[in-house]
Amino acid sequence: MITVPELPEITVIAGQMNKEIKGKRIADIEVKQPKNLNMSVKEFVKAAKGKTVNNVSSKGKWIFIKLDPAYYMLINRGMNADVLYFTPNQKLPEKHQFKLTFTDKTGFTIQFQWFGYIHFVPEKNLNKHKLTARLGISPMDKESTLEYFKKLLVNKKVGIKGFLIDQKNVAGIGNVYIQDILFKAKLHPNRKISTLSEKEINNLYNAIRDVLNRSIQLGGLAYEKDFYGQKGKLTINEFLVGYKTGKPCPTCETLIKKIKTGSTSSYICPKCQPLRQV
Ligand SMILES: [Zn+2]
Repeated sequence: MITVPELPEITVIAGQMNKEIKGKRIADIEVKQPKNLNMSVKEFVKAAKGKTVNNVSSKGKWIFIKLDPAYYMLINRGMNADVLYFTPNQKLPEKHQFKLTFTDKTGFTIQFQWFGYIHFVPEKNLNKHKLTARLGISPMDKESTLEYFKKLLVNKKVGIKGFLIDQKNVAGIGNVYIQDILFKAKLHPNRKISTLSEKEINNLYNAIRDVLNRSIQLGGLAYEKDFYGQKGKLTINEFLVGYKTGKPCPTCETLIKKIKTGSTSSYICPKCQPLRQV
C-alpha cells in the first residue's frame, strides 16, 4: 500500500524528534540530492552548522525544527520518505540522501522516495515561506475549536471532502484518513458544505478528532516508519471503510464501494453515506 504521511504520522515523528534531538548542536550535514533544498548545498551547510535545536513540532504534513539562533529547518516527507535517527556506530540506511550529525555523533538521515523538501528559513521570513505559510490550522491544535471549525465552513459551497483535504483549509488530512472521518460523520464525500446541518458539523468535528487521535495512539500507519524505524500499528484491517472495497460496512453490513470523487478515490457505505442535498 502506497501512502503519504498525514497528521498522525508527522505528529508521532515530530514528538520523537523533539525528545531525541532537542538541545543538540549541528556538527555536520551531507546532502546527496540538492533538489530537496531551497538553497545551494554550500549555503545550506554553512547556515545550519553550529546551530542548536530549540524544539521540534509539526503542522499538517510538515516537521518544524526550530533552531537557535533564529532559524527553522522545515521538512516535508513527501511520498513516504524515511526520517531515521541514528546513534554512533549504527549502520545507516544505504540509500539516504541527507545526513545531519550532531556534536554528540547522533543524528538523522532522510531517504526520499519521490519528492520532499528540506528548507532552511530565517525565523523572520517564516511567514513568507510559500509552502507552509498558507497552511490551515491543524485539527488537533488548541485553536481548532468547534467554534473555529463552524466559522471555517460558513459560506463554503464546495464538497466536504475536497475542502477538508485542501491543506490551506485544514492542515494534515489526506486521502487516507478522510475516508473513515466521513464514514463516522455519515457524510458522502461530495456533500456540499452549505447543506450541512449543525448536528452534522458537530459530528464531523468529533469524527476528525476521533480518527486522528486513534491513529496517533497506535503510532500511525503500519506502512510508515517512525524516527526509530518502527512501523505504526494502524493497518487496513483497523480501517472502518477506507480501502475496504467489497467488505461489509461495520454498521449496516452493506458492501463498501470505491467511487471516484474528483481526482481522488473514495470508499463509502452507500447506505450510511447517501448523497443527499438537503
Ligand atoms: Zn453502512
